[in-house]
Amino acid sequence: MKFEEIRQWLVESDADRLEELWRRADAVRAEHVSDAVFLRGLVEISNICARECYYCGIRAGNADVSRYRMSADEIAACARRAVELGYGTLVMQSGEDFGIRRDWMGDVIRRIKSETGLAITLSLGERSDADLIAWRAAGADRYLLRFETSNKALFNRIHPALNGRPADRFEILNKLRDFGYEVGSGVMVGIPGQSYDDLARDIEWFHRLDLDMIGVGPFVPHPDTPLGREPAKYALPHDEQVPATDVMTFKVLALARLVCPRANIPSTTALATINKESGREFGLMRGANVVMPNVTPAEYRCKYEIYPDKACLHETAGHCATCIDDTIAALGRTIGRGRGDSPNRLRRESAAGSIGGRVQP
Ligand code: SAH
Repeated sequence: MKFEEIRQWLVESDADRLEELWRRADAVRAEHVSDAVFLRGLVEISNICARECYYCGIRAGNADVSRYRMSADEIAACARRAVELGYGTLVMQSGEDFGIRRDWMGDVIRRIKSETGLAITLSLGERSDADLIAWRAAGADRYLLRFETSNKALFNRIHPALNGRPADRFEILNKLRDFGYEVGSGVMVGIPGQSYDDLARDIEWFHRLDLDMIGVGPFVPHPDTPLGREPAKYALPHDEQVPATDVMTFKVLALARLVCPRANIPSTTALATINKESGREFGLMRGANVVMPNVTPAEYRCKYEIYPDKACLHETAGHCATCIDDTIAALGRTIGRGRGDSPNRLRRESAAGSIGGRVQP
């Protein structure tokens, strides 16, 4: 799909035309990744963070956050809970917490693998090559690192460098693939300062990076962050600024499905947060094929406040599981069994006969 066509969809407001986009995305989803919805148990293992991201509520400078790092035993208990609930994957996410040491994390990964056999996805921020290689060797299967926006100036503004070294998440994504990970990335929709051109280019990047997983959600303002406190200071003029709405997020989900037909695409918690009534369902009807129920223990879950009023904040893991099962059944879809590896990665590997394929940004 060409840039102009992507951009045209992003600014489309005609309800009938949009129905056509939803219908196309749903058909491509059904054809390439079937009716199965895969569930991943999400455990937020630490909210300690070295970074000062302008969007994120657990940024280092936010003194109001009470910080935690889960113990290996606590994480292993969440993994067992994920197995009981029938999930095939455990996603471990955290702030950029350098107290999560390479060897400790390697031990946690090996332990979960041997005790449960779950597929393991990591989302621990920008870590060193040595860390990423060690964790892959320990048994981690997948890594999620959103590039957040492909507009470099905007990214650097909202994601200050650590120790004076600006991050290049595209380079890290290429390395993750070289190291043998299934690679996931994505963006926030409606970041103050994000234009329609930026967002159309982001979607082109999904295709160019040949992503195995794509996570997109609306930007949700957090009052204790620069973007939450002073959105007007960062926003573009009204007709250029992408709104952080559910409909705009549905458009990005649908377009992501069209440019990456075989990717695993979650209907995200951020989307369910801004449209509690039906965000999750519409996401699944407009391109998504994955849901990530939270299995973090309640005492920690409320402290992992990357944005306020997160959906399902006060639900138990068991309640979330029942509710999501009902949602999937009502849509006439089935629950995916097993690991739910990305059909995109499986196809790339069988085509290449090996793992590989770098893309230069
Ligand atoms: N430290 C890890 C994990 C961050 S949380 C990392 O940086 O990769 C995972 C995702 O939540 C982020 O990549 C970001 O896209 C999203 N996120 C953070 N703050 C948000 C906010 N205020 N609104 C919406 N999404 C947010």
